[in-house]
Amino acid sequence: MQDKLISIVIPVFNEAENLSALFERLFNVLSGLKYKSEIIFVNDGSKDLSLPILLKEYQKHPDIIRIIDFNGNFGQHTAIMAGFRESKGNLIITMDADLQNPPEEIPRIISEFESGHDVIGTVRMNRKDTFFRRYASKIVNKIMNKVTGFSLRDYGCMLRGYSREIIDIINECNEVSTFIPALAQKFASNPIEIEVSHNAREKGVSKYNVFRLIRLQFDLMTAFSLFPLQLITILGMFIFITGLILSCFALSGESLNVILTGIIVSCLGITGEYTGRIYQEVRKRPRYVIRKIYEGEGDKI
Ligand code: UDP
Ligand code: MG
Repeated sequence: MQDKLISIVIPVFNEAENLSALFERLFNVLSGLKYKSEIIFVNDGSKDLSLPILLKEYQKHPDIIRIIDFNGNFGQHTAIMAGFRESKGNLIITMDADLQNPPEEIPRIISEFESGHDVIGTVRMNRKDTFFRRYASKIVNKIMNKVTGFSLRDYGCMLRGYSREIIDIINECNEVSTFIPALAQKFASNPIEIEVSHNAREKGVSKYNVFRLIRLQFDLMTAFSLFPLQLITILGMFIFITGLILSCFALSGESLNVILTGIIVSCLGITGEYTGRIYQEVRKRPRYVIRKIYEGEGDKI
């Protein structure tokens, strides 16, 4: 067991202010482990000093750190997918760069892996995010469990562990829009969820505004369920039957028209979300473009 390797995959998008504290706390934890480790940073098109700071740290530890440098911003989940492709570990752990996920929780993920779990999910305790984010997550978790049939308590926490076998399967998935915790759950044979602590973002601001959050939720829903489409069909039938009944009494009204228009437009929107994603898939564009991978002594700069 001692010769096992732990890979830590961290997506980085404009996190310059957080990186030095992250290095310190992460190295502190990793040096206390009985296993070897590697850290894969994926620079997701940062426009601040994240890349030079990462490169400086890489120069100090070229044996542990690898950097995948994207040539633009392709999104957190895509960045993690690229990190998975490069990872060599027996256990692969993802975490955020902003220190909302305490690195000190890593040993607990490792011990769950040692006891045979292939996907170690996490639930954020005393979550330090805005009321809006916490409330929205509650609703999303409930809806997603209904439509996917999973029973995850926290879809959004990215401090998670995956066995090599699970990552190998995920690496075969070439979908453009995805949501990693749900994807892993789909393939897991012995998953577990543990409670982890959560901190406020150390420095800087969240990279998700309301629109990006909505898009992410649609990625999660459309990638894992056809239920919204089926719901539209059921709704359509219901409206049709209601219309038939109403027409027997010759009832009509302005408000009814507005409601029905609202329903129809929302349904078009949902269908459009799926169609748009099918369009993205069939175009088969590369999911991301790597400018350079820095690895090993050879790339020391
Ligand atoms: N991130 C990324 N690409 C993006 C958005 C975010 O690589 O397009 C990274 C970000 O640098 C951080 C992690 O993903 O390491 C989580 O992002 P953030 O903290 O902004 O999300 P939140 O905690 O607000 O959900
Ligand atoms: Mg964060």
